[in-house]
Amino acid sequence: MKLSFLSYLKQNHYADLDLKAVLFDMDGVLYDSMPAHASSWHDTMVEFGYHTTDHIKFYLHEGRLGKSTINIITEKEFNRKATEKEQQKIYARKTELFQQYYSGGTMPKAKEVLTFVQANGLKPILVTGSGQPSLLDRLDTHFPGVFTPKTMVTAFDVEHGKPDPEPYLMGLQKGGNLKPNQAIVIENAPLGIESAVGAGIFTIAVNTGPLPDSVLTNAGASAVFGSMEALLETMPEILQLSQTIRI
Ligand code: MG
Repeated sequence: MKLSFLSYLKQNHYADLDLKAVLFDMDGVLYDSMPAHASSWHDTMVEFGYHTTDHIKFYLHEGRLGKSTINIITEKEFNRKATEKEQQKIYARKTELFQQYYSGGTMPKAKEVLTFVQANGLKPILVTGSGQPSLLDRLDTHFPGVFTPKTMVTAFDVEHGKPDPEPYLMGLQKGGNLKPNQAIVIENAPLGIESAVGAGIFTIAVNTGPLPDSVLTNAGASAVFGSMEALLETMPEILQLSQTIRI
């Protein structure tokens, strides 16, 4: 971890970290929802007559706004942009199937990671590309008192979703106009990592899906953990380094 922090500071021209907040992605980090997302995307696209769909592809699109994913897949398959009506119909169906497929499970130890962050005086901020209206209710049920609308960035807040840096830049703003070296990001998806690294933030990947670690490293992650459990075990070291490391 130490070398990762040092190389982050050097690359981004900071002398130290002044950690105030931890920015969390949602799907695949706090919720074990990615298999249901991938299956609902796959089945929706098949229903709408798309052929070049396979599950792994949707893990690579993870984090994008729904309309962007639909546009990219339509362009690849039919050589044109999706109409606004198509975007709406496809995303509505995808959301409907997701609700059928997803049992609502959280990622093991996600709650404990959030508790650790709060207990150490750091602010947890949510940065998701998701645009489900019931999001806040669900978060409040599973992680009571952790997130409020003031500490959440969702699909409704941004013009450009991940991999654009906008969502994570807005997360820094919502954290209290923080500088990039005042936060760290926990992400599971390559496009989310790209977004966070683009915003200049130290980014830790938790590889909870089927992609190889190298995809997350190549996207710019400074460290990769195999699970939220593994991250939780290392959180004390991460916190300690963030308070002491200097160049
Ligand atoms: Mg994710």
